Amino acid sequence: MKQLVFATDNPNKVREVNELLENRIKIISKQEIGCLEEIPETQPTIRANALQKAMYLYDRHQVDCFAEDSGLEVDMLEGRPGVYSARYAGPDRDDKANMAKVLKEMENISDRSAQFKTVIALIIDGQARLYEGIVRGKLAKTPKGEKGFGYDPIFIPDEMNTTFACISPKEKNEISHRGKAVKQLISFLTR
Ligand code: IMP
Repeated sequence: MKQLVFATDNPNKVREVNELLENRIKIISKQEIGCLEEIPETQPTIRANALQKAMYLYDRHQVDCFAEDSGLEVDMLEGRPGVYSARYAGPDRDDKANMAKVLKEMENISDRSAQFKTVIALIIDGQARLYEGIVRGKLAKTPKGEKGFGYDPIFIPDEMNTTFACISPKEKNEISHRGKAVKQLISFLTR
């Protein structure tokens, strides 16, 4: 079976993609090929960060691999927090503080349009391909819901009238940025 290395240490993300691939291609984490260090993410865009992470693995290990990078982009904040989503309010990756910072910056702004974006960078036989998934929506005035992670409690996708944090992971995958990017990746891998 063909094997691909996912540039992540998050076993949940590896499991999720493996399940979607139904054993047609085996996905393993970067740890499983002995890459234990944190991969640098120093680029100014989500797209460039995804590519940087995949290139890092390819350059050092010469393996077929892919990486993903995601973030929340708020229209009236010129796309912020964007590539800085995880650490928007500081280095601790504090979801509550990150949401509070975005809500504060949006306090007096009526156009609350925003989107989540995921970019997946795939490198096979040294050739890079990029897949982008976007879900458009609006920012809530206050957080709502306990499910999910990150900015889910303040994001209301256009297809729904409640936040991502109020729906199941399965429902979220069907419309989410990550779900859309992973579907494109899988359709290429199983073509
Ligand atoms: P990552 O690149 O998938 O690790 O995402 C970076 C950051 O973007 C996360 O730490 C979250 O703050 C935010 N983010 C990405 N995807 C989502 C999502 O589906 N829901 C909520 N927040 C997200």
